[in-house]
Amino acid sequence: MIEDNVKKLFSQIPARNPFGEQITLVAAVKTQTPEAINAAISAGVKTIGDNHVQEFRDKYDLICGSPARHFIGHLQTNKIKYLLGKCDLYESVDRLALAEELSQKSLQRGVNSHILLQVNAGNEETKGGFSFEEIEDAYEKVSHMPALTIDGLMAMLPFSDDEKLLRALATHMREIYDKMRTYAPQFKYLSMGMSGDWRLCVDCGSNMIRVGTSIFGPRVYPSPSQNS
Ligand SMILES: *Cc1c(COP(=O)(O)O)cnc(C)c1O
Repeated sequence: MIEDNVKKLFSQIPARNPFGEQITLVAAVKTQTPEAINAAISAGVKTIGDNHVQEFRDKYDLICGSPARHFIGHLQTNKIKYLLGKCDLYESVDRLALAEELSQKSLQRGVNSHILLQVNAGNEETKGGFSFEEIEDAYEKVSHMPALTIDGLMAMLPFSDDEKLLRALATHMREIYDKMRTYAPQFKYLSMGMSGDWRLCVDCGSNMIRVGTSIFGPRVYPSPSQNS
């Protein structure tokens, strides 16, 4: 089932986006068991993305095949220590205080941390990230922080059926990404697109997609009592 889903997904993802860039698939593994994640990896998934530090820690040693590990969820500064040196890309750096703390902790630990700056493309109150207006200034500030490499941008698009709106936001994301690349030549990734909208996002210039449901099926969240 998971193997079939991964194979199907790989057959649907084009080799390159319209900008000629290869597309990286990140399996969004929140709530998934190590068995399910390992099934995805044996079917060809090379990168996994976690939302929760506790899950990242619990499963860390149970994952086979040495995939790249990304963090894609809201990160509290007091939990950075559990990810340091183990997370290959922090995709969800959504505020300056987090960048500052990640920089300091990385410096102390003697590691360099790769990050993406998260953009709240729909300006939604429920989502973190820098607005279109803030992102360039945020880059300027974070680029001076030691022990960090800013590899690009991560976008959270609104959940919406309005394809025109999503296309407009995704296109604008790519425009900002390209503009920033003129002074941030190290940029490699524009992470944008999930199960419902990755095709549209790739069309508009995303080169990294984060897919959960299309690989693992609908998520089953544990009840709060089991979660403690
Ligand atoms: C869960 C999650 C995804 C994947 O969502 P699906 O709709 O299941 O593909 C992508 N990005 C982030 C940040 C997520 O939390």
